[in-house]
Amino acid sequence: MKKIILLICSIVFFASCNDTSKVQELDIQNTSDEATKNEPTKPEETEVWKPIPPTINPFGQNGVPSDAIVLFDGSNFDEWISAKDSTEVKWILNGDGSMTVKDKTGDIQTKRNFGSVQLHVEWRSSAEIRANGQNRSNSGVYLQNRYEVQVLDNNDNETYSNGQVGSIYKQSIPLAKASVATGKWNTYDIIYHAPEFNSDGDKTKSATITVLHNGVLIQDHFKIKGTTEYIGWPKNVAHGPAPIKLQDHGDNSGVSYRNIWVRELN
Ligand code: MG
Repeated sequence: MKKIILLICSIVFFASCNDTSKVQELDIQNTSDEATKNEPTKPEETEVWKPIPPTINPFGQNGVPSDAIVLFDGSNFDEWISAKDSTEVKWILNGDGSMTVKDKTGDIQTKRNFGSVQLHVEWRSSAEIRANGQNRSNSGVYLQNRYEVQVLDNNDNETYSNGQVGSIYKQSIPLAKASVATGKWNTYDIIYHAPEFNSDGDKTKSATITVLHNGVLIQDHFKIKGTTEYIGWPKNVAHGPAPIKLQDHGDNSGVSYRNIWVRELN
């Protein structure tokens, strides 16, 4: 009798197991049906109409995007001051829409402060080769007065890789050397996102920078480690919006700039 009861129990148990499997299969089937039911079937269901981005003219006045702030168009230094004492710029205003570093007059910086930006800069090394290594047409574009994108005549001119043209000075070697011939005009197109700091002054988010050199990607969303120091490690003292700065390296660089504009990124 006991054997019969045990057999019946076993049959019921296995039958139960089989039922569970069926239920699970049904659930899977139901889930699958649900997913199918939620999948949009009309193109309109995945369309988003607002917000509508602003319309700009990418080739506005002098070929500059219509929503950009023109920092230098060759006509004056109205947007700039001397970095060391905030007096008027001593650099040379050429008649061809460009300016040239006047040796040992110091860096220049924008009167305006900026946070995250898209920045366009054109630069040209001296056609005359005057020195070697870091002393040949050395200048630099500084974001927020602290973070340098190196400008250098690197053509047939060896130097340390993390200080070569297009480097984030002493932090990031460029992905390629994309310079044009010495004495010709280069472009830098820079996407820069400012760092963030908390109320204690601690950095909570690193700045990032992407650089196109003559249209070639040479810095790919690099996380800036801190200030780009000539001697020493990067520093991270809290700061807010700050000027864009151009470097006078102090060794008769002969570097020229033209067509500088910026779009603020929010
Ligand atoms: Mg430099």
